[in-house]
Amino acid sequence: MFAYTREISHELQRRATLQAYARDAVDKDFVCDADFLLRAAAQHHGVDSPRPCPICEKTMRVVAWVYGENLGRRSGTARSAEEIDALVAEVGSITVHQVEVCTHCRWNHLLKELTASPVV
Ligand SMILES: [Zn+2]
Repeated sequence: MFAYTREISHELQRRATLQAYARDAVDKDFVCDADFLLRAAAQHHGVDSPRPCPICEKTMRVVAWVYGENLGRRSGTARSAEEIDALVAEVGSITVHQVEVCTHCRWNHLLKELTASPVV
């Protein structure tokens, strides 16, 4: 069992990026730049987002990336909720980045930085 004990939301940056896109201040290529690895991770390790893609309105995925010195080579990999549960049980608190990814138009944005901690 784990719980998120710390959360930094990037919702304001997301809104600012979308506003810049809406007023043509940035190109579609700039906001829709998810590379192959990110799209593959979203497809295989992510879950469907409750929100549609803000660019193309299709279904997006939310994928979690884990970070921490205590993770060794596993730091910087995409993980499912079940895998995060197992990692936290094994090594203790880790950092999780939740990223939304549209596999259709390649929109992507960091949503939240979280700390996943063991529940004692
Ligand atoms: Zn899209």
